[in-house]
Amino acid sequence: MSEAPILKVSNIESYYGPIRAIRGVSLELERGSIVTVLGANGAGKTTILKTISGVLDPQKGSVEYDGKQIQKMDVDRIVRMGLSHVPEGREVFPFLTVRENLMMGAYLRRDADGIAKDMERVYGYFPRLKDRLDQPAGLMSGGEQQMLAISRALMNRPKVLLLDEPSLGLSPLLVKDIFTIIRRINDEQGVSILLVEQNARMALETAHYGYVLEVGRIVMADTCERLRASKDIQEFYLGAK
Ligand code: ATP
Repeated sequence: MSEAPILKVSNIESYYGPIRAIRGVSLELERGSIVTVLGANGAGKTTILKTISGVLDPQKGSVEYDGKQIQKMDVDRIVRMGLSHVPEGREVFPFLTVRENLMMGAYLRRDADGIAKDMERVYGYFPRLKDRLDQPAGLMSGGEQQMLAISRALMNRPKVLLLDEPSLGLSPLLVKDIFTIIRRINDEQGVSILLVEQNARMALETAHYGYVLEVGRIVMADTCERLRASKDIQEFYLGAK
């Protein structure tokens, strides 16, 4: 028998006031895998991640993480259970230094040795952060802030990482780097990753399985290999003629 998925979202509906942003979405994240959710602007991708991480409560449906129902839990408790969310637009603390931002990611931990080890590990992924430890985060480039946001989430030693548009606003070279690191985090640390992206090409190369979201509903779900081969995906998401 195969292992239960680490994250199982069942039929969730979430609203902003009267606006129903997602309309009965179900998806699964297998342990140790990378799953991507593709979709145009406004399709509801960010809303799915906010609903999973507890920023938004779903009006209907359930979110099961590591065997527990979490749809009514608050954000802090969910983070403590090892589910970390890197929101769109990075949201680092601009007036705190890089080091302080990283420490904020470990605020629930008391194991100083483990924290020091994890700091070294994130410098391994992003050596530039080590050179800028005492700089205010707000003075770094967009790409560096994205690296910091991912690193801060890793300082929580997550089992699941939710990544919202990690490539947004980055140069093509940096986009490649970020996706390579995402793959390494998955391979080397076994972190399961749910990746929301508009850069369908990179997302489909990086992830194992993908969902396509249109106007708040899942319209396709398959392995990334098969999605890449699909004519509709090529036409609508990969810009093929
Ligand atoms: P993008 O790629 O542009 O971030 P998305 O797929 O992540 O888009 P969401 O941000 O989840 O989409 O938005 C889904 C729908 O909910 C959109 O119609 C959007 O206008 C609406 N929406 C999002 N945030 C709010 C909000 N705070 N208040 C009201 N409506 C919102």
